[in-house]
Amino acid sequence: MKTITVTSPLLPPLAEFNEYLQKIWDNKWITNNGLFHQELERKLCEYLGVKYLSLFTNGTLPLITALQALRIRGEVITTPYSFVATTHSLWWNGIQPVFVDIDPTTLNIDANKIERAITPQTTAIMPVHVYGNPCDMEAIQAIADKYGLKVIYDAAHAFGVKTGGESVLNFGDISTLSFHATKTYNTIEGGALICHDEGTKQRIDYLKNFGFAGEVDVVAPGINGKMDEMRAAYGILNLKYVDDAIAKRQKIAAIYRQRLKGVEGISFMEDIEQVRHNYSYFPIFVDQCKYGMSRDELYFKMKDNDILSRRYFYPLISSFSTYRALDSAATSNLPVATKVANSVICLPMHHEIEQDDVERVISVFNR
Ligand SMILES: *Cc1c(COP(=O)(O)O)cnc(C)c1O
Repeated sequence: MKTITVTSPLLPPLAEFNEYLQKIWDNKWITNNGLFHQELERKLCEYLGVKYLSLFTNGTLPLITALQALRIRGEVITTPYSFVATTHSLWWNGIQPVFVDIDPTTLNIDANKIERAITPQTTAIMPVHVYGNPCDMEAIQAIADKYGLKVIYDAAHAFGVKTGGESVLNFGDISTLSFHATKTYNTIEGGALICHDEGTKQRIDYLKNFGFAGEVDVVAPGINGKMDEMRAAYGILNLKYVDDAIAKRQKIAAIYRQRLKGVEGISFMEDIEQVRHNYSYFPIFVDQCKYGMSRDELYFKMKDNDILSRRYFYPLISSFSTYRALDSAATSNLPVATKVANSVICLPMHHEIEQDDVERVISVFNR
């Protein structure tokens, strides 16, 4: 039987990519703010509805660079329900992560619990738009304004997500994207940083190129975060196909929801009014008592049927051995996140899933 994979990369047509490769070979400008790099930055600004965007070679370096650019120190409040890169970016800057529990509906950081985690060392909040669902950005900004904190959104899942017609990337001080192969829009490896003024964009561009400001001066201990021309060209091409891919994902999500509605003990998230979703994941939550099977049993049953799903996010970042000694990592501090991490499965979700595949996935639930 065909294996149904949890994700599949959106690949541009090879013939089109070959034409772009020919152009790169012809002009021999293969990296360092090349022509395709410039073009992709422009096109992404337009597509996403943002003003200032800097490309990066992956989605982790923009997080690390954002913290550098804003000179964040001390403690940063963040969520344990994310991919490890969120917390790692803090650690790589010598910043202490402080975990706050998540909201049971959105699964994003619970804005009501942020204030009590603030100390004199707190300098910023780093929320994540988990599965592309927008955080409570108004409440987070109100807290940030009250305490003089910066807000850096890890928007790795939120490519193209809008709320009330406005890109979520336009909130906070900086937002970051990942264009990793597993994401809705990919450049194989890649990422971007979105900021809101020209001065910050300039500083980010220095920082991602070793801190070089012109040929003869280095103004900051920067890093090498540059995206090369091949992946920029790949990105330009994929941008033409990403809307179709999102539309396909939306259809899959609709069928999943329709088929799973009647299954006792299985719940899922609904679309939010006024939000343009990107359907990057389809998480379901298993209530073991009502469903009669544990999350892990169901996960392995799918695997036995050649259906690859993913327990995402499990384990919580706060329970990895590298972070579990932090005070805020205690399970008693994170009851909602703990419960969600123990019940979640992300079902196969990508542009190549067919109706038959969905039926096969659903048949595992019904048997
Ligand atoms: C994918 C991801 C990242 C890191 O992106 P890379 O491009 O793999 O470095 C960061 N945060 C979240 C929430 C992610 O899902």
